[in-house]
Amino acid sequence: MTLPVPMPLIRAAVCCLVAALLAACATQPRAAASADAAFQRHVDGVLEEMWQAFPEYATRVGNYRHADRMTVPDAAWRERSVAFYTRHLDALAKIDLASLNPGHRVDLELMRNQFESRRWQLTTFKPWQWQPSTYNVGGDFGVLINTEFAPLETRLRHVIARLAKVPAYYAAAKAAIENPTLEHTQLALIQNRGALRVFGEDLEKKVAGSSLSVDEKAMFAARNTAAKAAVNGFIEFLSALETKLKQGGARTFRIGKDLYARKFAYDIQSSFTVEQLHQRALKEKVALHDAMEKLARELWPKWMTGKPMPADRLDLIRAVLDELSKQHTKREAFVETIRAQIPALEKFVREKDLVDQDPSRPLVVRETPPYMRGGGAGASISAPGPFDPTANTYYNVTPLDHFTEAQAASFLREYNDWTLQILNIHEAIPGHYTQLMHANKSKSLVKSLFGNGAMIEGWAVFSEKVMLDAGYDNGSPEIWLSWMKWNLRSVMNTILDIEIQTMNLQREDALRYMIREAFQQETEATEKWRRATFSQVQLTSYFAGYAEITALRDELKAKQADKFSVKGFNNQFLSHGNAPVKFIAALMRAS
Ligand code: ZN
Repeated sequence: MTLPVPMPLIRAAVCCLVAALLAACATQPRAAASADAAFQRHVDGVLEEMWQAFPEYATRVGNYRHADRMTVPDAAWRERSVAFYTRHLDALAKIDLASLNPGHRVDLELMRNQFESRRWQLTTFKPWQWQPSTYNVGGDFGVLINTEFAPLETRLRHVIARLAKVPAYYAAAKAAIENPTLEHTQLALIQNRGALRVFGEDLEKKVAGSSLSVDEKAMFAARNTAAKAAVNGFIEFLSALETKLKQGGARTFRIGKDLYARKFAYDIQSSFTVEQLHQRALKEKVALHDAMEKLARELWPKWMTGKPMPADRLDLIRAVLDELSKQHTKREAFVETIRAQIPALEKFVREKDLVDQDPSRPLVVRETPPYMRGGGAGASISAPGPFDPTANTYYNVTPLDHFTEAQAASFLREYNDWTLQILNIHEAIPGHYTQLMHANKSKSLVKSLFGNGAMIEGWAVFSEKVMLDAGYDNGSPEIWLSWMKWNLRSVMNTILDIEIQTMNLQREDALRYMIREAFQQETEATEKWRRATFSQVQLTSYFAGYAEITALRDELKAKQADKFSVKGFNNQFLSHGNAPVKFIAALMRAS
């Protein structure tokens, strides 16, 4: 199960930027303060230009001022975008990093990394050419239709304005696609078939029931028909492409060592190299197997009474895990069980004094809205974007009604009584939700917009360990063994991603790693293989972030000795927004 955190992660109102500026003025020498002020003005100007140049990006992060505009991803647009990034990289290069306060230095590095990465994607990596799945208009229309940022009629007018460009959008897509992979072509087919639903009956009913004028309704009908025809035309184009690629000659989905290293540097911004992370993950796998064997032997008499213990340690661990997985909630109680656990997690964090919480910003557990379902994930956090400071944070939990009896049984075994608690720790408290709550207080729009995925996922994984180290579930061997299996998944994701993309790891070997060595079910393993053929680097973010935060914690704990406090470390770590761990580490070492 993938547990995505949607992109509009954090709110950090613009007024906070002013507050940051004032704070800097009060505490710094005048020259430095004015350098910071100038930098902040520069950032504000750059962001303003970004919203105009990339309206879809603006809308996705919750700035709806350009929500009526649609980008046609043609060669002229790519040229303009490259020019945009180059111009702003040149401007950033002229700023004296040493003159800025530490928070602004991180902001500058984040912007530079972001712009370099995007330019590299356009000029070198070129997913717009070989990944047909980059083309899909469904999501951006979905945001306008389903997010209530303005009255329905306003949003529908934005929809009508944007619909006019859909045919040009898909014409540009067809012109750009060259030498694609079979995997990304097939993904594009599935996703664009899904996009058709966005223009279907639900939208038509919304328009019919609205107070739009007769002329507007007629214009909608004509443009919606043309848009659907354009999506269908793209689907036909992809089907023909798929047939051709199946006969051979498709580009491989493996990106190779050089591109991988570059993408890893941009996406993870880690202090580890790919090779170092790979070695670390391989070692961690062995350490987890050792610890799991010990726990499985300890648990054997309690759960496996009278049964002979297998000689092979992986078989032994698997047998105990299988037995534990029989303890789970009922299918119809899934959402309620999660809802009931949240207060218990809050209480544990408070009593053990692990990290600050904010009772004024409660987490709302809800059933996943229908338009967000279908991604397969059972649970995810929806946090307000940086421009929507008052919105709720939701914990979306998908009820299991869409599953067959067998699917539900398998899902519940996977999210059994212990694993479900770890899921809630990861997603909610003190994982993603708690981290986002802290990040919202950080005074940087840049950090909330260009935040680092490895820091975010790394924290969620790290927070699981914080809870267990503090004696969660009375430190039971059951919860530890379950956590280790869960943790082994991120370790394995890292090993797989690196070996698949850069070392030609084959499907059968990858499945054996996941099923035998990481105790996964076959469906999970085959789905993960699929995902690993579409994405690169992202699968390493969990372990990369976790490993770096753990290394930082160990370093500071050794340095501070009996002055070290878990809560002090956690609060300070979370106070820097979504900056890459290596930048947070530098700030914490200096303080
Ligand atoms: Zn996560």
